[in-house]
Amino acid sequence: MTFAQVVLDLPLATVFDYFAPTLELAHIGRRVIVPFGNAKRVGVIVGLARTTDLKPQQIKTIVTIDPDCPALGAGVLALLKFTADYYHHPIGQTLFSALPPAYKLIKAPTPRSAPQQFRLTALGAEQALKMIPKRAVVQQKLLAALDQSHAVALDQLRAMSSTAPRCLREWLERGWVEASALEPSSTIATSFNLTLNGEQRHAVEKIAAALGEFQCFLLHGITGSGKTEVYLQVVEQVLARGDQALVLVPEISLTPQLEARFRARFPHVAQVSLHSALGEGARYAAWQAAAEGKARIVLGTRLAVFTPMPKLGLVVVDEEHDASFKQQEGLRYSARDLAVYRANAAKIPIVLGSATPSLESWAHAQRGHYNMLTLNRRAHQQAALANVRLIDTRVNKAQDGLTEPLRKAIATRLEQGEQSLIFINRRGYAPVIHCRSCGWMAGCPRCSTRLVFHLKKRPLRCHLCGHIEAAPEHCPQCGNVDLRPVGEGTQRIETVLTQHFPNARILRLDRDSVTNKDAWQQHLATIADGGADILVGTQMLAKGHDFPKLTLVGMINVDGGLYSTDYRAGERTFAMVMQVAGRAGRAEHPGDVLIQTEFPEHPLFRAAVKQDFPGYAQILLDERRTAVFPPFVYQALMRIEAVQADAVADFSKRAKHIADKLNSSVTVYQPVEANIQRIAGKTRYQIVVQSESRTQLQKFLSDWSTKLSMLAERKVRWSIDVDPIEV
Ligand code: ADP
Ligand code: ZN
Ligand code: ZN
Repeated sequence: MTFAQVVLDLPLATVFDYFAPTLELAHIGRRVIVPFGNAKRVGVIVGLARTTDLKPQQIKTIVTIDPDCPALGAGVLALLKFTADYYHHPIGQTLFSALPPAYKLIKAPTPRSAPQQFRLTALGAEQALKMIPKRAVVQQKLLAALDQSHAVALDQLRAMSSTAPRCLREWLERGWVEASALEPSSTIATSFNLTLNGEQRHAVEKIAAALGEFQCFLLHGITGSGKTEVYLQVVEQVLARGDQALVLVPEISLTPQLEARFRARFPHVAQVSLHSALGEGARYAAWQAAAEGKARIVLGTRLAVFTPMPKLGLVVVDEEHDASFKQQEGLRYSARDLAVYRANAAKIPIVLGSATPSLESWAHAQRGHYNMLTLNRRAHQQAALANVRLIDTRVNKAQDGLTEPLRKAIATRLEQGEQSLIFINRRGYAPVIHCRSCGWMAGCPRCSTRLVFHLKKRPLRCHLCGHIEAAPEHCPQCGNVDLRPVGEGTQRIETVLTQHFPNARILRLDRDSVTNKDAWQQHLATIADGGADILVGTQMLAKGHDFPKLTLVGMINVDGGLYSTDYRAGERTFAMVMQVAGRAGRAEHPGDVLIQTEFPEHPLFRAAVKQDFPGYAQILLDERRTAVFPPFVYQALMRIEAVQADAVADFSKRAKHIADKLNSSVTVYQPVEANIQRIAGKTRYQIVVQSESRTQLQKFLSDWSTKLSMLAERKVRWSIDVDPIEV
């Protein structure tokens, strides 16, 4: 007799034994429905065993082994097991948080919802192109995608707009499009080919030579240096071998351009996207297509790192330094790090691409663990590097956030009919309102933070917990009626620009003005059409968009990053500055970047002017080495929170005491209040632990968390964050 070892969606590290009359090795990784208590549950078979510790009367039988759901391959099962161990998270929760939500339903979506693809009919090509009005932006976009490709997956069209299914239904009725099941295709013919420059050719050759073995490449090149082109050409070779490619991006909703580029390059190849904004059915279908090997290109956000891909031949992590590759709650995994692990286990190459690599990856490359590939030039012959200059705000005082030189530069752009972007990484009108006579500031009642002033009905808003309140008419502390908004946010800059340039078309882009993907698409279309003169926006605008008419970028309030207590602030600020600067002058227009700062001598800004990432990385690495911070040491963080402040403090002391008694070689620091001490009414503490040995640290964390679990503490929530990026 053989038993199946089944993992269930429960916060337990336990694996449950079940019986089934016919069990074979091929059942490992299959989705099952099993009886559990009085109910049925979804599980995954992770192994088979000849014996069980259960008594005969305790043994239950599997209800069904789902015939429609593809198995998780041995590679993905091993990856999930590693993830659970490394991040100290129960295997059941790890596995199920890595799977599409629909996988957990007792009745998973039937294969009828298998991915569909659409193609334009001859009638559609003739009529639709003429009849759809130009202002119907969404329809035009869908049509353009269909027109460019042999066939487009429904999933891709849906990613472009949530109204895609409705349009397609209408077009089906008119006979403009026809639908078919998404099928793997044997042709991978690309639609065109660029002649690579020398650096790109070198990169493609190196990576292609490694196909079929593990090697980690760090592809370092500024925005516009042609990194994506390198990915595309390597992917082409992967497809030619009959393999699948996995491309991870920070935020897919913000990168439809990348999706479109892959689709345009490989019009006959089934490609799916995986991200959390997809509907349950669509995500499950896309996941299934990947797991069955039908989808040859999988483009996704961090969660896609767990996608079963039986013929995986290459992994690409674009913008590898981006913080969104690290999940910040629940299973706190780093998709970039897991991608490297996965590539290693699968014996395939992985490419980490960035203009400003993480110091971890940079240090690996410096030590020769990763292969460094560098693109030093912009790929377009004409596109010159942007010209970065600093505006010293001690000399040129800012008025309502803007200095004279910046205002003049904007005015010049307006005269020349070119676009400007004013970047300020803070939404709202002003970050705080303040009483000038007693110093009172509006704070959030539930968080240890200030309320941001917005131009809205109830203007005071907490950006951490969402608390909203009316602005007081007088100071609650001293009665003064002269309360002023202090500092600048996007709304204030927008207002000020409107006063200075009453005839300019100003477009503000932040999370308040862009509430959904369709709005975002509309704005991007407006910008591309030249329908805006000045853009005001947060980091949302910085990521991977081509703005061909943009020739000036102004950055204000970048200095905030220099005051931060987080040792990663410098690294992060520099990456942000480079990313925003990369928006200027991509095509034939050379771009100017003006940064307002009070600290023009700071090494960060000096390096920014030269766009010298290697130089600044060296300074940061030297600092980290001296201070013994990652990547020279491995860190983990215990996060502790509860409503009652004293319970948190007590538990933290006990946790520290228990850690000390373990007598490990790892360093355990004193518990301290977290950087933001209170969020949504919960007090937060943290304990940093670190070691030069990853093995020692891992062993310590296992022992520590086992001991702490035995305390069965109910009032306090604690969790372990391995390789934290927010300390
Ligand atoms: P990155 O991903 O580094 O930002 P891209 O691959 O997007 O760079 O390239 C920037 C622009 O240059 C794109 O418009 C791309 O089509 C173009 N490009 C890339 N490589 C070449 C090349 N070898 N010759 C001409 N144009 C190129
Ligand atoms: Zn006051
Ligand atoms: Zn709050």
